[in-house]
Amino acid sequence: MHRFFLEGQVLRQETLLFPSNISHQIRHVLRLQQGELVGVLDGSGWMAVIELQDVDKKQVLGRVVERSETEPASAVCINLIFPLSRREKIEWILQKGTEVGVSAFQPYISRRTLAQDASLKPSRRERWQAIIREAAEQSRRAFLPELHSPMDLSSIVNEIQSSGQTCLVADVGAQQPLGEVFSSLSPSISELSLIVGPEGGFDEVELDDLREAGVKLFSLGSRVLRMETAAIVVPALILYELGGLGASE
Ligand code: SAH
Repeated sequence: MHRFFLEGQVLRQETLLFPSNISHQIRHVLRLQQGELVGVLDGSGWMAVIELQDVDKKQVLGRVVERSETEPASAVCINLIFPLSRREKIEWILQKGTEVGVSAFQPYISRRTLAQDASLKPSRRERWQAIIREAAEQSRRAFLPELHSPMDLSSIVNEIQSSGQTCLVADVGAQQPLGEVFSSLSPSISELSLIVGPEGGFDEVELDDLREAGVKLFSLGSRVLRMETAAIVVPALILYELGGLGASE
């Protein structure tokens, strides 16, 4: 059954008029017929099964036949904090990170990030959100990952320090291997942040600030991964270790 995200809609209505972009997909791309079933997710774990009623109009009409709460969210929610970079790299991180099971994306700028402007044009935000939505539909996630606005690394570090949240930081020069960090985490941890450094790495002042904020710096060993590789590989390892890959959602 094909699935679509339609935030805030699924729980209330008996019939559903699909917006034109999804109607287009139903009619022209998937060529679904009247009577076929599709799933509509609200992004927070609820799904409605919809029977298509009228597929000939510009806006496809469907009838809600069943609503249910889908599987529980990931065992652990990962907030992936990654550097603003070239457009293709960011889009790749959003798409693959969603497939792997990242729960929230937080872009940042720091001294060595390729991009130095934290503003995000509405058109770009929309595009990024569409990439996340399509990847979530494709990978059959019931939860839509959140996209936060870009921030300065120093503000993020302040927030981490004041909230006391668990934060892991990938750094090429770190002493502790990731496996050791895993064994220091509480087995019941439900949420954590992960910071991946920019292409040029963190500078010494940033590393000092991070240490002072109480983060756990870790190394992946002697091979240096590209930033965007680390941004996918590390969430996959964390989710595998803490039960979110190979388990439900
Ligand atoms: N020249 C930079 C390399 C940065 S690689 C430097 O020396 O720091 C980009 C980011 O990917 C790093 O900041 C880190 O977050 C992550 N990364 C890549 N390889 C890693 C490794 N072997 N161990 C830990 N983190 C790594």
